[in-house]
Amino acid sequence: MEDYDIAIIGGGPAGMMAAIAASQNSSKVILLEKNPSLGRKLLLTGGGRCNITNNKPIKQLLNSFNNKNFLKHSFYTFTNEDLFSLFDIDFVQEDNNRVFPKSGRSRDILEGLTDKLEDVVISCNFEVKKISEGFVINDKLKADKIIIATGGVTYPKTGCNIENYSLTSQPLTDIKYGLSPLITEKDLSAIAGVTLSDVVISYKKHKIKGNVLFSHVGLTGPGIINLSNKISEGISYNLLENNPDIDLEIAIDLCPEYSREELFDRFTSDFQSKGKTMLKNYLKLFLTNSFIDYFLSEINMDSEVQLSRINKKSKNRLIENLKRFPFKITAFNDNLAKVTIGGVDLKHINSKTMESTVIPGLYFAGEVLDVHGPTGGYNLKIAFSTGFLAGLSASEK
Ligand SMILES: Cc1cc2nc3c(=O)[nH]c(=O)nc-3n(C[C@H](O)[C@H](O)[C@H](O)COP(=O)(O)OP(=O)(O)OC[C@H]3O[C@@H](n4cnc5c(N)ncnc54)[C@H](O)[C@@H]3O)c2cc1C
Repeated sequence: MEDYDIAIIGGGPAGMMAAIAASQNSSKVILLEKNPSLGRKLLLTGGGRCNITNNKPIKQLLNSFNNKNFLKHSFYTFTNEDLFSLFDIDFVQEDNNRVFPKSGRSRDILEGLTDKLEDVVISCNFEVKKISEGFVINDKLKADKIIIATGGVTYPKTGCNIENYSLTSQPLTDIKYGLSPLITEKDLSAIAGVTLSDVVISYKKHKIKGNVLFSHVGLTGPGIINLSNKISEGISYNLLENNPDIDLEIAIDLCPEYSREELFDRFTSDFQSKGKTMLKNYLKLFLTNSFIDYFLSEINMDSEVQLSRINKKSKNRLIENLKRFPFKITAFNDNLAKVTIGGVDLKHINSKTMESTVIPGLYFAGEVLDVHGPTGGYNLKIAFSTGFLAGLSASEK
């Protein structure tokens, strides 16, 4: 039987980073990946461009996560500067501190990582189905320590699946969809492809500013997928047992820069001074052109009516819908959810080492843990920092 110091299960960004850190301490490390190649999900990230991290200062960055105290040590142990220094390529920083490889190719990130794995035994097409006592993986392979970096449940074609959560008896939280487009009750084919920029989307007490993109089946775009985390967190379900039942309403403030009162005053004056202007033309001052016809038909207003002919009741209806345009949501578009909310319960993981406090020698890293962030490089940041810390601590002990 082959005996390794450390076996890492899962060859995504967290597993690869754990392997890089562990092999630096001259441990005998094996990386086991069930796909024919490493980093399948990594290649899809950022639309193929890989938004590798978010470059906000660490303190601000930590505030964006559900479990910032847990992540703190790993973020200070493995910083963005440490991450960039692994690669011989240039990076660019875009809006909202999002960092991408300058080449715009996620493959450059994957190649940069695999180049650092020369001291690691890599075994692809190896699906770990069971971990027996003494960290025996099968009749040919055992390890002194194991790092689990099997990812979450989304995008199953990239290798993730729900059975991975039962590889060990480590306690789990509820498992849910995160960063997911939303399916609407109404068919939105008429406006598929239209984007609303910098609108404010609300669900219960949550308000998120961002872009909304309409698809044939519903809503997507950064604003929506960030809000989907709040929706998912607020509903009681666990994918280990059942799928979520959703029937809720979200609303979009289409004119966040104006209050209702400001719109009322402006409309009152403009409806007189520009009385002959058609409503659909006037609304170009406030709304994306390609959205106006849909919006007016949804609120039953004649798009060609002249402003002077709009009575007070209609004006109020217009203002109400500009400030609160509702959509009924019936499901998560789970095929396109980007991350998993929930996972290995952090109460039983040492945040200074990523080691289980119930099964010594067992470590966890990446999305399999109950940590998630918004869209914008935050989730790969989790994978790289927790992966590095797990690999480092497993090889030091
Ligand atoms: C379309 C898409 C775009 C995204 N874009 C971004 C982005 O731009 N920036 C960002 O920060 N985040 C992004 N994310 C999220 C990010 O990709 C994940 O959070 C990240 O990949 C998690 O890394 P991981 O290593 O924990 O898991 P994964 O990347 O999922 O890797 C887990 C690996 O484990 C393997 N595995 C699973 N079970 C077993 C087993 N039993 N035996 C052996 N191997 C196993 C899998 O095959 C897989 O290769 C995106 C996600 C998606 C789906």
